[in-house]
Amino acid sequence: MQTYDIAVVGSGVGGSLIASLHKDKKLIVFEKDTNLGGCSGNFKRYGYTFNTGATTLAGYEKNHPLKKILQKAGIRFDLESSEVAIRFQQGEKVIDRGVCFETFMEQIEKNYPHKNNEIFWKKIKKLDEKFWRLKHLHFAKYRFISYMLTLVGLVELFLVFRFSLFQSARSFIKKYLPDISPEYLAFIDSGLLITVQATSKEIPLLSLALGLSYPFHKVYFAKEGMGSLFEELLKGVDVRLSEEVVCITKESDFFLLQTTKQQYKAKKVILNATLYDSAKLFVQKEIKEYYEQFDFHDQSAFTLYMVLKSKEEFLHHYQILLDKEIPNAISKSFFVSFWKQDEGVYSLTISTHTKASFWLNLDKQSYKQEKLKTEEFIKQAFLENFVEIQEEDIVKLFSASSKTFQRYIGRSNCGGSLISLKNLTKMASCKTPFEGLYNIGDTVFAGQGWPGVALGVSVLDKELYM
Ligand SMILES: Cc1cc2nc3c(=O)[nH]c(=O)nc-3n(C[C@H](O)[C@H](O)[C@H](O)COP(=O)(O)OP(=O)(O)OC[C@H]3O[C@@H](n4cnc5c(N)ncnc54)[C@H](O)[C@@H]3O)c2cc1C
Repeated sequence: MQTYDIAVVGSGVGGSLIASLHKDKKLIVFEKDTNLGGCSGNFKRYGYTFNTGATTLAGYEKNHPLKKILQKAGIRFDLESSEVAIRFQQGEKVIDRGVCFETFMEQIEKNYPHKNNEIFWKKIKKLDEKFWRLKHLHFAKYRFISYMLTLVGLVELFLVFRFSLFQSARSFIKKYLPDISPEYLAFIDSGLLITVQATSKEIPLLSLALGLSYPFHKVYFAKEGMGSLFEELLKGVDVRLSEEVVCITKESDFFLLQTTKQQYKAKKVILNATLYDSAKLFVQKEIKEYYEQFDFHDQSAFTLYMVLKSKEEFLHHYQILLDKEIPNAISKSFFVSFWKQDEGVYSLTISTHTKASFWLNLDKQSYKQEKLKTEEFIKQAFLENFVEIQEEDIVKLFSASSKTFQRYIGRSNCGGSLISLKNLTKMASCKTPFEGLYNIGDTVFAGQGWPGVALGVSVLDKELYM
């Protein structure tokens, strides 16, 4: 049996980015699914291709971790930038979010007039710009040098942001947008739900700034589907598709990986499985217990996939805000992405937020009923908000719950616990207490989406051979 330098378990954003940086090593990537990319991949059904979850890509710009990683790996992505990053529709109100601050301000003033609008949004944008200029951001544990680098990062963070680091999002909104209307707050919260997976009630000011500023950056769309980006990242890498790692044993100076096909030896293991799905991979008690300490982040996505025949032209991304909760969801909004596959043919990925536990705990019959209920509600709300589309234009429609994600990519949730100074000590770092064992992905620092996971990968890259 040959020994690999690195075994990467999972080909999601985290697993694929770190693999792309270490092609010079004897490296192997295992992927349980038939497709690459996890939540950010593609899949085929009924002869059409769909984006599984993620459809927007940000952070492909100077000084951002994602761009730096790709430059280091010598990879260029084939992307299309969307002039309107996301169109928000709230009844009659339409707000196009894009890079141009002045255009955005005009629309904000028109839809949600407030005497402090300009001050509020300028401050938000400035905080975000300062964040992406940080030079020493690092978060890792279990070794003196890792703690030192984390400390340097924290000191820089404090020197740049000072006491605003301790401010909550809601208190900032209260201060700068007093008497904010419920519609305006709903607009802000729905934007945050897409980017930081939480509303302003739960997050610190810095997360508010990063989340709301997402569309001030260039937002890209993958013309050939998100899955095509993983083929670029993993070109020349030994990838074993449809091969699940089922058991990992730590020996004195290597790991023994048992997959659904055979056994492998590796000096280092990088898990791209979530923290919550890692305990079951180990037999050793102390490693199992390490993973069991993390509280499950019970948030997930309900996703509707659609094939549409239409001669109309659409933007790539819309966020639709409703005035009532979506059944079985924890949101009053849903995100719609149009991917033109052919002239007059679109594949759509529509998603909203839900609790993973809700779907996991239903019996077979109720699961079917509830899934249909959510599917039907979103379909009707979609048709009401896109009046140029008729029901008969929908050629195919099906949906995925947390249970579906569990079946295909081995995870039922999305993202990890919120990042804040308060829970710093509880947060998982990419380095584990076990020599040679690492984690990467959206349940560890620095959270979800391409920009968050890429930031985590840049930290892991430093830690791996330190
Ligand atoms: C509906 C939805 C919409 C989203 N929209 C966006 C967006 O527009 N923009 C954005 O930036 N982000 C978006 N996100 C978030 C983004 O998709 C995720 O944060 C990101 O893809 C997570 O990457 P990851 O590295 O954690 O890997 P994951 O996506 O979790 O992938 C992990 C991979 O590991 C594999 N795996 C797990 N266990 C094993 C095992 N034992 N053996 C072998 N393989 C294994 C899985 O099959 C999977 O392919 C969205 C997420 C969802 C669900």
